[in-house]
Amino acid sequence: MSYRGRIAPTPTGFLHLGHARTFALAAQRCRAAAGTLILRIEDLDAARCRGEYARAAAEDLRRLGIVWDEGPDVGGPCAPYVQSENFSYFLSVWERLKNAGAIYPCRRSRRDVAAAARAPHAEDEAAEPIFPPQWRPPAGTGRDFSEPGDFNWRFRVPDGEEISFVDEIRGAQKFVAGKDFGDFVVWRRDGVPAYELAVVADDVRMGVTEVVRGADLLKSAARQTLIYRALGAAVPAWAHAPLVRDESGRRLAKRSDALSLRALWAQGRGDFIRGFCGL
Ligand code: GLU
Repeated sequence: MSYRGRIAPTPTGFLHLGHARTFALAAQRCRAAAGTLILRIEDLDAARCRGEYARAAAEDLRRLGIVWDEGPDVGGPCAPYVQSENFSYFLSVWERLKNAGAIYPCRRSRRDVAAAARAPHAEDEAAEPIFPPQWRPPAGTGRDFSEPGDFNWRFRVPDGEEISFVDEIRGAQKFVAGKDFGDFVVWRRDGVPAYELAVVADDVRMGVTEVVRGADLLKSAARQTLIYRALGAAVPAWAHAPLVRDESGRRLAKRSDALSLRALWAQGRGDFIRGFCGL
């Protein structure tokens, strides 16, 4: 099977040095495998995403010299490459998971909803406690629903099961369902597909064979493995790149604009960016 990789920014701010290094690595791994690189815009959360950031991300990537073979601007066989243009597809994946008995409707706090809204980057995760198994409804709950309605939908994780995989960068990994992570949200009660569902749904649809992203999403590889399994789809290879941290040791976030590529370019530090990203 030929290599298909992707770069999947969420347009909630300008790209920073951390994105640049991870995306450059994704492009390099794809090129080394003579593969196809996809640009996909993960903008399902309309309240947080903006078109101007999506345009800026594509511009920044081009300026870094990263070239993609399929994407919103160049098209390709897996269009649309913008998640917000494909809501009905995500709904069909919700339906498949529901029919398989893998997920259930749940009414829990707003905080859960907020946590599900974004990719659970490791440092935010302390704020997301394991969903108490006693809150889990009996098997089969929700199977008769014809639409998600006003509920969060959670994935029923197999408590105690070890999910292991070999990460291409970080080596052997092992997470225990119910201990390292609990029943996670795949669909938000405000009608938005959650990150874990959306990313797997599109990686399956686009035939992605290797996922290259930041190490803060390492644990999500275990969650996502369960979704692949429930969908009967092949799990891709994983390659989680080291995070870039600021001087105080914090993961760079889009909210800290200081190290945005734009700010660095404006300071004439293009060579630094290229060197830092190994470009
Ligand atoms: N769009 C996600 C983010 O920017 C990353 C998705 C992924 O690579 O799995 O956090």
